[in-house]
Amino acid sequence: MNANRLFEKLVDLTAIRDIELLEFSLLRTIYQYLHPLDLRIFRLDHNNVVRSEIIYGKKKCTVRNEASSLTDELIQMMTYTGNTDSTEFTKKNEQGYVSLYKIHQTRNMTLYLFILNHYRIPREIRHLLIGVLEIFRNYVELLAENITDSLTGLLNRKSFDRTIDKVYDLIPANTDEYEDDKRKRDSNNYWLVMADIDDFKLINDRFGHLYGDDVLILMAKIIRNCCRDDDLIFRFGGEEFVMIIKCADIEDAKLALNRLLESVASHLFPQVGTVTISVGAVQVDRDTFSATLLDYADQALYHSKQNGKNQ
Ligand code: GH3
Ligand code: MG
Ligand code: MG
Repeated sequence: MNANRLFEKLVDLTAIRDIELLEFSLLRTIYQYLHPLDLRIFRLDHNNVVRSEIIYGKKKCTVRNEASSLTDELIQMMTYTGNTDSTEFTKKNEQGYVSLYKIHQTRNMTLYLFILNHYRIPREIRHLLIGVLEIFRNYVELLAENITDSLTGLLNRKSFDRTIDKVYDLIPANTDEYEDDKRKRDSNNYWLVMADIDDFKLINDRFGHLYGDDVLILMAKIIRNCCRDDDLIFRFGGEEFVMIIKCADIEDAKLALNRLLESVASHLFPQVGTVTISVGAVQVDRDTFSATLLDYADQALYHSKQNGKNQ
């Protein structure tokens, strides 16, 4: 494949609206161009733990979502690209030429491209690849902006439907046939939580919209701190948040949510003082439509509001 073909592929890439699909297409494009021995994308969290890995092969493409360990060699290469401005690092080992490219870095994750080749990638191809990755990076940023709430940096309402579909896929079907399935099911329980700031209108009225906005920003931070890295947090409307959190059972969910309520209630917001939230939650069940789940969570939230709020 020549450079022109590669750029034609790039046009296809930018027509894709989903970040994960875009990553697949990037791998496919590179695969068709280089035919490497091994080709992967690693996603690392801010503690440098691998959160996901896409392995692109001739016959199949594998996605691993659980934390996997890295070889010492890779850690070394990542440290190198992390410590320098260099976005690329190539090294020869007994298997061939290993190249690592830092694709994209945000506050809480870094994306790396890994290529194992039987020959050293020629200089001009390396430049081309870096150019492709730069376009990819700009496009991912644009997509990310599109699904982010600009005030709080949380996910926006628009991205909810797509995201919940992916959560459904993580929940194994409800069958007791296999012990394995049961174990999987117990560990993959998700809860949809709706949270709403109590008496927020009063805060706006008393202190003004600017302080109201500040409460929203700080609230997003508190919620983020209370959640795990892979929990999903959306700003749903004005002072309403929706979370999808992983909890083993209802007791576990109650514990997590009570901890959140305490964190919020014990925080001193500048000028405003204390603020509380009310929450309602429902377990995500793959046979229930997301609109219905939201409705159940909303009913539970309504119940909290009717019974004195901050609960
Ligand atoms: P409750 O305890 O029952 O939830 O009462 P509440 O006052 O929080 O709820 P209500 O729905 O009456 O008021 C929500 C207020 O949130 C009204 C609206 O002006 C304000 N609001 C919505 N979006 C924003 C925003 O982006 N910034 C600010 N500062 N205020 C917002
Ligand atoms: Mg409210
Ligand atoms: Mg509200």
